[in-house]
Amino acid sequence: MRKIVVLGSSGSIGTQTLDIICNMKMDVCVKGLSVDSNIEVLKLQIKKFKPSAVSVNNFAKSQILKKWCISNSIELSVYSGPSGLERLAEMPDVDMVLVAVVGSVGLKSTIAAIESKKDIAIANKEVLAMAGSYIMKLAAKNGISVFPVDSEHSAIFQCCIGEKKSQIKKIILTASGGPFYRYDKSFSQITVGEALSHPTWKMGEKITIDSATLMNKGLEAIEASVLFGVPVEKVEIIMHPQSVLHSMVEYIDGSVIAQLSSPDMRLPIQYALTYPERLPSNVKPLNLSEVGKLEFFKPDFNKFPCLGLSYYAAKKGFTMPSAMNAANEVAVEAFLNKEIRFTDIAKIVKKTMHAHTISKKMSLDSFIEADFWARHYARKLIN
Ligand code: MG
Repeated sequence: MRKIVVLGSSGSIGTQTLDIICNMKMDVCVKGLSVDSNIEVLKLQIKKFKPSAVSVNNFAKSQILKKWCISNSIELSVYSGPSGLERLAEMPDVDMVLVAVVGSVGLKSTIAAIESKKDIAIANKEVLAMAGSYIMKLAAKNGISVFPVDSEHSAIFQCCIGEKKSQIKKIILTASGGPFYRYDKSFSQITVGEALSHPTWKMGEKITIDSATLMNKGLEAIEASVLFGVPVEKVEIIMHPQSVLHSMVEYIDGSVIAQLSSPDMRLPIQYALTYPERLPSNVKPLNLSEVGKLEFFKPDFNKFPCLGLSYYAAKKGFTMPSAMNAANEVAVEAFLNKEIRFTDIAKIVKKTMHAHTISKKMSLDSFIEADFWARHYARKLIN
């Protein structure tokens, strides 16, 4: 039986993961769960999965949960704050940690899990974008595996099984394009409501805005480069509005291998949990004659400047992706709070990156410092 910890259990990936474990009657034991503040969802999950520890980021909510556990005679360790995530990540008698928290907050817990020799299922692209090469080196040193949960990266992973990394010519990362690839009005007029309505995927707010600016795809290009050990120049982005073909790998002989399925996150989540096994799933079978056509076209780097910024950050390397990611997190939050316009997101990220002095130390502290600095700098720009 596989024993797992789910960090971010009330979010979109977290709840789908627990649904799969339950519905598929998988041989998986849930040892730990974490939420930011949604203790109502957590209470239901505690009753269903009986974990031995949980963490609630919000301290006041963690105290309410503790009282609830006592009055319901539930024996459970309740942690709080960022250190709570690390406590869960280090729990003994756990084989895998699913990192489904959003943003750079997942960095320290991912590292804690790797250092305590647990396999990682990673749904958090910010962590890999900000400190990917550091994390992959640490994973190799500790002899653990990092399984992608992102649909594109799960596709690439599947296209690489049994192949040699040195024979990859390029990775072709598909992008649905989000709501605006055919938008003909001025991008500066885009409202929060428009940006939050994604045509194919139902996701959390931060990633939905990133999908609208295509920063999500930029972060995914960095993520792919890190996970599969190829330079970012060999990662090509292609628009594919049907979201049926989840990515491809082209090999040196000209063969292109792709993975296709109905767009449903339950599939990549399940595969990360069961690899190398495949189990039957509830995902709608792919009916290509019903889909009719699969379209592909080049992305517009002028309309979506976040793409170019991501490639620039990846090429500069070291702390630049960390600074870019932090500035983006701050700018997206400001856009959601209606402090800035849609087009200001890329402007703030770009200005922050230009002001950033790269540190070449390659230590955890240098990534965290860059993140901290960029957050303050971006915040100042917004104010
Ligand atoms: Mg994705």
